[in-house]
Amino acid sequence: MKGDHTMREGQELMVITGAGGFIGGALARYFHDRGHMRIRAVDKKPLSEWYQRVPGVQNLCLDLSREENCIRVCEGATEVYNLAADMGGMGFIERFRVECLRSILINTHMIEAACRAGVERYFFSSSACAYNTELQKDPQPRALRESDAYPAMAERGYGWEKLLSEIFCQEYWAERGLKTFIARFHNVYGPHGTWDGGREKAPAAISRKVIQAKYTGSNEIRIWGDGTQTRSYMYIDDCTKGIDTIVHCDELIATPINLGSSEFVSVDDLVSIVEAIADVQLRRHYEPDAPKGVAGRNSDNTMIKRILGWEPHTPLRDGLHKTYAWIETQYLNQKAGAQVAEETEQRALATSSLGHAR
Ligand code: NAD
Repeated sequence: MKGDHTMREGQELMVITGAGGFIGGALARYFHDRGHMRIRAVDKKPLSEWYQRVPGVQNLCLDLSREENCIRVCEGATEVYNLAADMGGMGFIERFRVECLRSILINTHMIEAACRAGVERYFFSSSACAYNTELQKDPQPRALRESDAYPAMAERGYGWEKLLSEIFCQEYWAERGLKTFIARFHNVYGPHGTWDGGREKAPAAISRKVIQAKYTGSNEIRIWGDGTQTRSYMYIDDCTKGIDTIVHCDELIATPINLGSSEFVSVDDLVSIVEAIADVQLRRHYEPDAPKGVAGRNSDNTMIKRILGWEPHTPLRDGLHKTYAWIETQYLNQKAGAQVAEETEQRALATSSLGHAR
């Protein structure tokens, strides 16, 4: 496989932003497990809320929409992986377009700080939402090629921010010689990601709903849209490997590339796979007015196969098995925690009413 990373001995400083989140956290773990000794992980969330905290990694809690913080984190860095963004699944992206657009501040300050600090390689996490939405109106669309971002008609808010940040990356290479790398992720899923609270994406949301239906015995599931929307979903291990490979392939400097699976399924298919994992069959209720995004989207992997001789290949069923198991554990822990809290409250109430009675 081309572009695989051999040059470093793990001594150079690597900066990962958004490292308290799903993909950034997984990337810190990935590089740490491959012997990288100097990783600086940055996120604006308090450390207690990070999905993964990797031993030996320097963790900083800083808001990277502020220029001075970007200058501080890029100091002494050789490589920068920018995964920080205010984002979530369709429910978040459709509702909070201003928040999504404001992520432009993060990339704008980060790339300038990286360039001034003499960083050798800069990675930007773009998205399939940068593609022209006109090409995604059919649930059975042709897969999206890298050239399909133009003429531009990106997803409102989130997609336009990604497209403009891609252009920053391209011009920093053209004018200032900073080696930039841009991957357009297609729906990433896996353990240690958002699974409730409103920012979760379809694989996690559906897994959680099936788990809830199973444990509460409701035997019902609410599905956003009519179930026909189609997407492809990339397992997190393919994503981290893909990022590493892309960043160490000079043929891909300043060249946006799809990083996604080409295994294409409908939302109904996704529900069926999760039901099979959980060994349940649920009554489906469709919510046509809920956020659902474009009708259909798939990743054309011709370019990544040609240039890297590789593509994301984890079968959806295998990845979902691991994801489901992880979410089930989180769900049960949360439930057990809630039960303990309730029992403690009841005990406190009982003690105080005894006190009153005395
Ligand atoms: P995530 O929400 O789990 O992680 C993003 C992290 O960025 C969060 O922990 C958040 O606190 C942090 N962040 C937000 N604003 C910040 C700021 N001002 N300063 C510092 N940190 C800040 O999301 P993710 O799924 O890990 O996504 C990582 C990147 O990949 C994002 O750029 C996202 O747009 C992109 N992407 C993700 C997917 C996907 O399916 N997960 C698909 C396409 C693109």
